[in-house]
Amino acid sequence: MASIEQVSTEDRLYRMRHSAAHIMAEAVLEIFPGAKFAIGPPIDYGFYYDFELPRPLTPDDLGAIEQRMRRTIGADLAFAHEEIAKDEARAMFSDQPYKLELIDGIEDASVSLYKHAAFTDLCEGPHVERTGQVGAFKLTSIAGAYWRGDEHRPMLQRIYGALFATPQELEEHLARVEEAAKRDHRRLGRELDLFSFHEEFGPGLVYWHPKGGRLRTVIEDFWRQEHYRANYGIVYSPHIGKGTLWSTSGHLDFYGENMYSPMDVDGQDYYVKPMNCPFHIQMFKSMTRSYRDLPIRMAELGTVYRYERSGVLHGLLRVRGFTQDDAHIFCTPDQVQEEIGRALDFMFFFLGAFGFENYKVYLATAPDKYAGSREDWDMAEEVLRRCVEERNIPYEIDEGGAVFYGPKIDVKLLDVLGREWQCTTVQFDFNLPERFDIAYVGEDGKEHRPYMVHRALFGSIERFVGVLIEHYAGAFPLWLAPVQAVIIPIADRHIDYARRIVDDFRAEDLRVEIDDRGERMQAKIRDAQLQKVPYMLIVGDREQEAEAVSVRRRDGSDLGALPLFQLIDQLKDEVATRS
Ligand SMILES: [Zn+2]
Ligand SMILES: [Zn+2]
Repeated sequence: MASIEQVSTEDRLYRMRHSAAHIMAEAVLEIFPGAKFAIGPPIDYGFYYDFELPRPLTPDDLGAIEQRMRRTIGADLAFAHEEIAKDEARAMFSDQPYKLELIDGIEDASVSLYKHAAFTDLCEGPHVERTGQVGAFKLTSIAGAYWRGDEHRPMLQRIYGALFATPQELEEHLARVEEAAKRDHRRLGRELDLFSFHEEFGPGLVYWHPKGGRLRTVIEDFWRQEHYRANYGIVYSPHIGKGTLWSTSGHLDFYGENMYSPMDVDGQDYYVKPMNCPFHIQMFKSMTRSYRDLPIRMAELGTVYRYERSGVLHGLLRVRGFTQDDAHIFCTPDQVQEEIGRALDFMFFFLGAFGFENYKVYLATAPDKYAGSREDWDMAEEVLRRCVEERNIPYEIDEGGAVFYGPKIDVKLLDVLGREWQCTTVQFDFNLPERFDIAYVGEDGKEHRPYMVHRALFGSIERFVGVLIEHYAGAFPLWLAPVQAVIIPIADRHIDYARRIVDDFRAEDLRVEIDDRGERMQAKIRDAQLQKVPYMLIVGDREQEAEAVSVRRRDGSDLGALPLFQLIDQLKDEVATRS
């Protein structure tokens, strides 16, 4: 067995984490005699173990288990490996039903075990040599987990631990987790009154509240304005379509499990759309297209519905109904490079406007089976490659990672915590133009098949807003903030003046609210800060007399008194520059 110093860091951490899982199981079995233990693998930041216990665990239990673990670690006991016959293993784990089931699944005649102290586990290893070598850890949480992930099997209690080589790395990890929890868009969505979910009336369906709706409107208005500037046509397509549309497009065959059951309309099956593409193709086909008409860029904020298993739904990030910022570009072979380049530049401009500067770009190439010809794919992959290389964008090749209908570029943006979020896709399609037999008349007077590119910048508005909330921790820049300023009158006699200010601001399209509750000024300032409103405008006698307001920022800084007209100009400027 390799000594602990000789193995790579990754392997070393794997051994440490896996060994800690054993030590935790030892501790739990000692504290809860008769406990049944199931599986305990290492994971990317630590480890877990699943148990069947006589009662639900509480956070206090974690402390006791941790303490017991530290005793084993302090004793620096050896891990010993052993191979025994299956029958012997069955006898050894006779009161452990989960282990017995695991033993039954082992094909070899013998069973591999690891032991430390009086604790023995079924295990292939590898482990550290001694319990003193497991590194810095902390038990972090308790969760329910079905045995073998099967909802028809018993629900076990899972204990998670974080483990790193050094206490400093552990601290950094825990701080990151805490920061991520503070930024959790589900929590902020509730606290900032942006949106809600109502599981009882359908999970994965978003209810946008007025403030979330305001944020969304700002994003969509910006999206529309910039699409018109970039010479896209904005379209609207139906939410349902007849079965024949979806069988021609191939969605019923290849995407059926993500589509909802049909509804009967006049004896025909109609389906709620999971994608907008077939509708845009019909618009393309609605008249004869000449090469002079191309490229045609059609964009839609198209709301689609897709079935996702309830277990994978996650806030705004994974939902069952969402609005894609979809676009389809129909062009000639000569135009395709230019169009892909434009789409990429457009994307970088867009994401930059929302404060994202760092990306990871992936170019996904042909899988084993694909639609279209090898030449089409070679050309398309080459175009994608050239477009990213011309822009000096570092990228990785995702070999064979494309879906069957065409190669694509996937862009994952990195937020302030360095987390990756899949948003943008630019995707060739050699399938739908064929299936719907679309064509344009070329310079030679003959019919040719146009290239079709699908493109989404945000991916979906829901997902993008979720990412945006986490990126900014809910403290949106002024141009996005649902409420840009709260006006706080010091006394009731200032309310009329405050109301007039509200009118002045609204006339300039600035989003302000007045806080005329009977609370103390400090409490109102604190509440506005908690709501992450960028500006607090305080008005009292002096301000009223001078046609001014006293300005505070949400970070606590005090800008002093400013004349009203000056502040309005300043805020309008801040909105316009999206700073
Ligand atoms: Zn093990
Ligand atoms: Zn599409």
